[in-house]
Amino acid sequence: MIGISKIFIYAEPRCRSIDYEDVAAYIQEKMPAAEVFLRGPLLEEFTGGGAAMREARARALATALAAARIRRIEGPAAQARQPLGGEVEYEFRRLKNRESSAFGILYDSRMILEICRDLIPSTESGLADLSIIFTNQLIGNRDLADKRYHARTVILGAPSIVSTGGVAEAPARARGYYLARRSSEWLGLQEEEKNRLARSFADDFLELEDPRLTSVAKGLAMQAVVYRLTGKPFCTDKDCRLFNAHWQSELIRSQLGSGPEFCRVHSDLLAECQDLGDKPWT
Ligand SMILES: [Zn+2]
Repeated sequence: MIGISKIFIYAEPRCRSIDYEDVAAYIQEKMPAAEVFLRGPLLEEFTGGGAAMREARARALATALAAARIRRIEGPAAQARQPLGGEVEYEFRRLKNRESSAFGILYDSRMILEICRDLIPSTESGLADLSIIFTNQLIGNRDLADKRYHARTVILGAPSIVSTGGVAEAPARARGYYLARRSSEWLGLQEEEKNRLARSFADDFLELEDPRLTSVAKGLAMQAVVYRLTGKPFCTDKDCRLFNAHWQSELIRSQLGSGPEFCRVHSDLLAECQDLGDKPWT
């Protein structure tokens, strides 16, 4: 097990239903020997230097983000390319406005990880440091089996990224939902009626303003913590918070179920972390 001495959590202010202080306190409780720091949004941290320098940094970041957009869901892996002026402008405006969202745009996980890695101070990128970045951007990687990009809830790496947009969009809803959506298209219903019909067929699912997102965010942040501790991604037990859910029903079961939070193996691992020490959250 690799020790973690510092955990940096970067919040996403655009997802207001997540209480990040609560998430940070939970991670601190699970990892008492580490110091947990709660920060603002990583991509918008242009605090150093004067106005001109901040503007130049935002412009460079907007260009990198625009280049990380996935243009084709199917086909070969995305390559970095020169983005269009309009795409850069869109990203630039989004960086300036913390109320804005990026719905409908999927970003390449490898390129986003590189962008985040460059923004994290080198003094916080050591082996014993872990950064967990929350973002509302939809982030995807390519599945080798079907050669398509899929949105993900969590991208594990250094740093790790939790996509709040991905929580609502990445795990598929119940099959009945899609059948109902398709039927309502055939019937030519209005959007509101389509949604009502779809909901009546759907199982429970999570939305962006769902009050349960704080609890889900805790489990997803723990996936990043345990990945750093063990080097192994996810868990195969559907009742463990480290399970990699592909369906909304699985996500709700693993993160919000009434049983124990973690499987036996991961409970034992986290009990070891409890034995390591007990420091106050800073
Ligand atoms: Zn487990």
